[in-house]
Amino acid sequence: MRVDTEYTAGACKTMTVETICVGSEILLGNIVNTNAAFLAAQYTALGFNTFYQTVVGDNAERIKDCVRLALSRSELVVLSGGLGPTQDDITKDAVAELLGRSLVRDETAVYRIHEFFEKRGRRMSENNLRQALVIEGGKVLDNDNGLAPGVLVHLSGEERDQVGNRDFADQLILLLPGPPEELERMWKEKAAPYLQKLSGRVIASSMVKACGRGESEVAELLDDLIRGTGDVTVAPYARTGEVHLRVTAAGTDEKDAKQRIRPVVKEIKSRLGDSVYTTHEETSLEQSVVELLKANELTITTAESCTGGMIASRLVNVSGVSDVFKAGYVTYSNKAKRKLLGVKRKTLEKFGAVSADVVRQMAEGAAFYAKSDVSVAVSGIAGPGGGTEDKPVGLVYIAVNICGMITVEEYHFSGDRMKVRNSTTAYALILLRRCILEYYSRLTFGEEERG
Ligand code: ATP
Ligand code: MG
Repeated sequence: MRVDTEYTAGACKTMTVETICVGSEILLGNIVNTNAAFLAAQYTALGFNTFYQTVVGDNAERIKDCVRLALSRSELVVLSGGLGPTQDDITKDAVAELLGRSLVRDETAVYRIHEFFEKRGRRMSENNLRQALVIEGGKVLDNDNGLAPGVLVHLSGEERDQVGNRDFADQLILLLPGPPEELERMWKEKAAPYLQKLSGRVIASSMVKACGRGESEVAELLDDLIRGTGDVTVAPYARTGEVHLRVTAAGTDEKDAKQRIRPVVKEIKSRLGDSVYTTHEETSLEQSVVELLKANELTITTAESCTGGMIASRLVNVSGVSDVFKAGYVTYSNKAKRKLLGVKRKTLEKFGAVSADVVRQMAEGAAFYAKSDVSVAVSGIAGPGGGTEDKPVGLVYIAVNICGMITVEEYHFSGDRMKVRNSTTAYALILLRRCILEYYSRLTFGEEERG
């Protein structure tokens, strides 16, 4: 039975939602709870409030306890996982039992399961059909990446008296499959549009990504915007070397919501200046660097010591990088720095491998031997050993060479070996970007001066 009741707009303004991730493997630390992170970001983007997240093992009584508690304080309870065919997949059974509803077969899911096994010439067991069971009276969300459909249940008044909270105008339980590719697609294509319609308003959001400024500096520059002026929210997220800002607004329709966002995005860009590298959700820092290289017809080479190829690897994340990326040297030993990049033995002896002079020569050598316009070189002490009073763990030198114009900077990163290496990689990309921008603005300035 399919009940596709359309609920009208205006049921709730800012919906309060919480997530319950079901799976003993999450509790035991065998898998990382990426579904909770994905869903939380999605709630923010839709302008929902979320105050709690729970992880619970594959145990019916404990799942029911968690759902009961969640329903006492949230309008929408989203469960992830446990919709599959095995005996430990009991989410649907537990929720149906809590509500006093039965499980019924969804014929579309039955058809899809049969088709799946037929195509593969595999024998289907009765267990597989368990996946086609849905909660009676629920809205079925077809699974376009797997076999178990999701279910969205509106609680009846009676159910809310028993296990819910009458203070809310409406209460819902949403069951999503555990595999992230199934959950994410079902959320984006099926659940989110329905919930958005239900909330009676359209949310639009935009992403501003900035690099090379600390989170506190950005927070200070945007203090009034982050505190909020009412209908547009600006939420900052710190990444290594980057701060991402999600700007969200609600409107009567998409155009209205976007119109509210636009001036705030413009204001952020003007206050953060050149450190904003994109306003596109999907664009990464490395992508913006590669685009900048392409736009200026520059080729690049990397010369890495402590990062062991991580900068090259980030550049290679970008499809089409072959147009600009010439070579990546990983020169960990002094000998490799001398033989492959032409670093002078005397410089190594006098200043040590982690020094401004050595990265400068690494950058020179990399561009020279690979015949590229641009090069970036790094050398540092990633730790945990190898630090001295003069050269402590976290000391890193980065050099960028743009057509022979070399910039060298000294950094002091904190954290463990991986964190130092990640920071080095991020700041190498940031310095690269800054140097390319400076080089070209200087050229333009020179041209303007010459008239
Ligand atoms: P299946 O039909 O694959 O059994 P399911 O809906 O029953 O799907 P689970 O059995 O709970 O989901 O989880 C299946 C797999 O999905 C897990 O082994 C794990 O790889 C992934 N997964 C489940 N929950 C999460 C989560 N919260 N975060 C990230 N991955 C998850
Ligand atoms: Mg399962």
